[in-house]
Amino acid sequence: MTTSKTKTAQKIAFLDRDGTLIFEPQDTYQIDSLEKLKILDGVIDGLQKLKEKGYSLIMISNQDGLGTSSFPYPDFEKPHQKMLQIFAKNNIKFDQIFICPHFPKDNCACRKPKTGLVQNFLKNLELDKTASFVCGDRSSDKEFAQNLNLNFVKIKTNGNFLKAVESFGNLKKNKSNYLLSKIKD
Ligand SMILES: [Mg+2]
Ligand SMILES: [Zn+2]
Repeated sequence: MTTSKTKTAQKIAFLDRDGTLIFEPQDTYQIDSLEKLKILDGVIDGLQKLKEKGYSLIMISNQDGLGTSSFPYPDFEKPHQKMLQIFAKNNIKFDQIFICPHFPKDNCACRKPKTGLVQNFLKNLELDKTASFVCGDRSSDKEFAQNLNLNFVKIKTNGNFLKAVESFGNLKKNKSNYLLSKIKD
């Protein structure tokens, strides 16, 4: 052991959940049953690609009123846990999942684009700011990236995740065989 700490700068993908990784209904914006869970196109391949490239995966999501009568916890947990199971079957694990459960009117410090949810987490690591990025479908995701001084990768709501991440820097499409991977669900 030496007294000086040497940290390797980490590549992190900060990923929105709804409309980015799973289908977001455009009427209620709420995924509150198993029936509403749909992993979006390119998500499994895209996440596996990020993993291959050495990225840590962090999920960061606003879930309005989670834990209140408008969005009881069990209604959230069922599809959320199922999603994580599908990811796990495909060897995808998120290092951290951060969720703001508040309404906009609560004026909390953790709702994207505010950065309260990740402040402590970021304090304890050295971030590779060139390679790291935020990916999401809303302007709040973009502002979140700006507030962290990070790259932003825009995805169309319920669009193709693989195509979105391939638009970013060193993740550009190459001749690897990731498209041949079998998706398990
Ligand atoms: Mg979203
Ligand atoms: Zn909050």
